[in-house]
Amino acid sequence: MDYRKQFFVSPDKKLKLAAIDPAHTAGHASSEEALPAIQKNVARMAELQALLYADGNQSLLVVLQALDAAGKDGVVRHLFSGMNPQGTSVFGFKQPSAEEAAHDFLWRAHKRTPARGEIVVFNRSHYEDVLVVRVHNLVPKPVWSGRYELIQDFEKLLVANGTRILKFFLHISPEEQLARFKQRLDDPARNWKISEGDYSEREFWSDYVEAYEEALSKTSSKDAPWYVIPANHKWFRNLAISQIITETMEDMGLKRPATRVDLKEITAKYHAAEAEQAQRNGKG
Ligand code: AMP
Ligand code: MG
Repeated sequence: MDYRKQFFVSPDKKLKLAAIDPAHTAGHASSEEALPAIQKNVARMAELQALLYADGNQSLLVVLQALDAAGKDGVVRHLFSGMNPQGTSVFGFKQPSAEEAAHDFLWRAHKRTPARGEIVVFNRSHYEDVLVVRVHNLVPKPVWSGRYELIQDFEKLLVANGTRILKFFLHISPEEQLARFKQRLDDPARNWKISEGDYSEREFWSDYVEAYEEALSKTSSKDAPWYVIPANHKWFRNLAISQIITETMEDMGLKRPATRVDLKEITAKYHAAEAEQAQRNGKG
C-alpha cells in the first residue's frame, strides 16, 4: 500500500476531513497482523537514523499535529524510542513563554530545527499559530491568515538547507477522543494527562476541523507534505506513519562518508602497534 500517495493532502483541492474515515485500516484486520510490519519499520528507522547521522549532510523534521488524545505522545514513544538519542530530539510546543511571545511566531520553531545529521520531532509546532490561535482569536484574522505564506517560506528555507519535512495530522473521531478521556479517568497511571482544557477544547471541535482543513491544504506541498493519518486505531496510525518515514528516508540517498584516512597506511600502523604490544607483553 502506498500510504504516501493515499494520505497526502493535495495542495490543489480543498481538504474535507469528514470525507476521511478515522477508523480506516487499509484492509488490515488487527493489531497482531500489523505488528511485524511496524516492528520492521521501527528497526529500519533506527538504522536509517544512524546512517543520516553518519552521512551528515541532510536532516529530518517530523511534525505531529492533532486534537487532544489523538496519539501524538504515543507516536513518539512507539516509533522513535529505538533511535540513538545522540542525533534525535523531540520538542513539545506549549503556550508560548513570555520570551517566545515577544518574538515572531516562527522564532521558537526555528531554534529547534534539526542540524545536519539530526532528526527532530515537533510534538505540536509552529502550526499552533494558525490553529489554536485562530480558534480562540488570539490574534486578529489578518495576522493569522498571513501566516500560511510565512510558514511556506520558512519550510522552503529548511528544505533548501537539506531538511526533509514530514507533517502528520492524526485524525480521530470525537467518539474515540471521549473513549480515550475515559481511559485517562479510569487508569491512575494516566490521570496526570487529564486537563480541564481537554473538555473545553472539545467544544471547539468544528472550529478546529475548519482551521486544520485550511492550514493543511494551504501548506502541503511535494517538498513539505502533510498526511492525514486515520488514527482511531493506534496500531494502524503507527503502521502508516512508520511506513511513510521509512520510505522517505530510504529515498534520501544516505550514505556513510568515505574514510578520511589512508586505510593501507593505517593498517601498517596497526600491525606495528600490535607487534609492539606483543613485545611488551612478552617482557612483562
Ligand atoms: P499539550 O500538548 O497537551 O501539552 O498542550 C499544550 C498546549 O499548548 C495546547 O493546548 C496547545 O494548544 C497550546 N499551545 C501550543 N502552542 C501555542 C501557541 N502558539 N499559542 C497558544 N497556545 C499554544
Ligand atoms: Mg493535551
